[in-house]
Amino acid sequence: MSQRLQLTLAILKPDIVANPSVLKNVWTRMLENGLYFVMSKRVQLSAVQAEQFYAEHRGKFFQNRLVCFMSSGPVWCHILCGDDVIGRWRRMLGPTKVLKTVFDQPDSIRGSFGLTDTRNCAHGSDADATAKKEVGFFFPEFDIDKWYKEQHKFFQNDLVEFDPDKLQHFAISDT
Ligand code: ATP
Ligand code: MG
Repeated sequence: MSQRLQLTLAILKPDIVANPSVLKNVWTRMLENGLYFVMSKRVQLSAVQAEQFYAEHRGKFFQNRLVCFMSSGPVWCHILCGDDVIGRWRRMLGPTKVLKTVFDQPDSIRGSFGLTDTRNCAHGSDADATAKKEVGFFFPEFDIDKWYKEQHKFFQNDLVEFDPDKLQHFAISDT
């Protein structure tokens, strides 16, 4: 049995949600890399919500363009789980700044599809504590402790299957 799996929050940002073939490509990369989708939802953020989510960047020179961008169209939010999923998902994304990443890591998601340093495809939580906070921001109905108690074992033992309509992995029932 593998060790305790991590949870993280992924956001597929408006630049790729607006492009169906890129969006599909990113979901395929996530599945092929063995990331599990615990919950998924499509959300339209208001400017106020985008500003709250990125509160750590208040006052920075790019804050206004970041908030405008994140509220410019729908995003997909996913709770992901997996072994070291925080690091794995961020490595799949590649470094934040697209204008450099297209040269340094052209095969990463940002290197492949990023448009600018702001319009950089996707977000991933950067630590366990941040992941918990960010999952709570988008999925207040999700009970992390209950999930670890009741669902984690199925994911840990790969007893799950993917439902492409719901964009979620579900435990395979043993009935
Ligand atoms: P994210 O938090 O979205 O996963 P990150 O952790 O790689 O990205 P942060 O430093 O947290 O990067 O910045 C948050 C977001 O703000 C970036 O993803 C990008 O959209 C935007 N951003 C960050 N730095 C810049 C910059 N120098 N110029 C323009 N936009 C930026
Ligand atoms: Mg960040």
